[in-house]
Amino acid sequence: MKVGGSGVLKRLNKSSILVTDIANQYWCERQMELNYLHGKKYTKQMERGKQLHEALQDEVYVPLTIEPVSYEDFMFKTAYENYRSLLSLRQKGICRELRVYGSLNGYRISGQIDEMKLVDGKVRVVERKTTEASRKLTEVYTRPHRMQVMMYRMLLGDIKAKRYTHANFTRIYGLTNDGLSDVFKRELQAMGVRGELISPYMMSKKMFDEFESMPEISNRLEVVYVDRFSGKQISSTEIEYTESEMAEKTAYVLKFWNGERESAPVEEAENWKCKFCKFYGNECKVWWKGG
Ligand code: SF4
Repeated sequence: MKVGGSGVLKRLNKSSILVTDIANQYWCERQMELNYLHGKKYTKQMERGKQLHEALQDEVYVPLTIEPVSYEDFMFKTAYENYRSLLSLRQKGICRELRVYGSLNGYRISGQIDEMKLVDGKVRVVERKTTEASRKLTEVYTRPHRMQVMMYRMLLGDIKAKRYTHANFTRIYGLTNDGLSDVFKRELQAMGVRGELISPYMMSKKMFDEFESMPEISNRLEVVYVDRFSGKQISSTEIEYTESEMAEKTAYVLKFWNGERESAPVEEAENWKCKFCKFYGNECKVWWKGG
């Protein structure tokens, strides 16, 4: 049964779309959907990937150590960390773990960019993937990663070109000068954060000012593959971003979120993916041969 746009988000118990959801649509869209309907499995591999990310982040940046209590504390903290990351990009030529926000045909969308670095004066978006060193980096395997890094490029471009502004952001996320918890405010004051900046609205304004004034964004994107066990780089792929390819791909993914089509299972030629899928033979029997 097909349902309307907000109906799909509601059915999946979501209020926004993540960049990784869209990337996963390019692995198996049905699996992405079933993960929301039947719960995600937190695997050991994911935990190891997370540890590697955290280790890399520590190389360039110390996050704000105050624990958020309220929603506004959390949004302040994210804006502050993003602001600091963008300063690091400007000053050191690199930043890691940057949250990015935007809108896709009215859907709220967000994601976390692994790395941005300055190459020949332009900002290059880099996505890091942990994998097994023996894994063949085929087109099918790398397709979602390509989509993920292209989405980040698109969202950054929208902010820089002011198609998605601080006014959009504060309206969508309901941010004003109020809402910080007393304990969070006291900690900020102890850190020397100035009066008017103790506001989710003003801190997110600083973040947007930095986004908008960052150097030109490169159309050359990079996906780096890192060995899951040693943490060493295996290979890196460069991708050329074009607006026409992006427009075509977003039109396709939106048809799912709009409820204009059912989620697509993998094609028959790629049904080997099903063997690694926890829904195979359970919630999904598209390619199930029984047994
Ligand atoms: S069993 Fe195959 S088609 Fe079904 S959700 Fe899993 S990967 Fe997709």
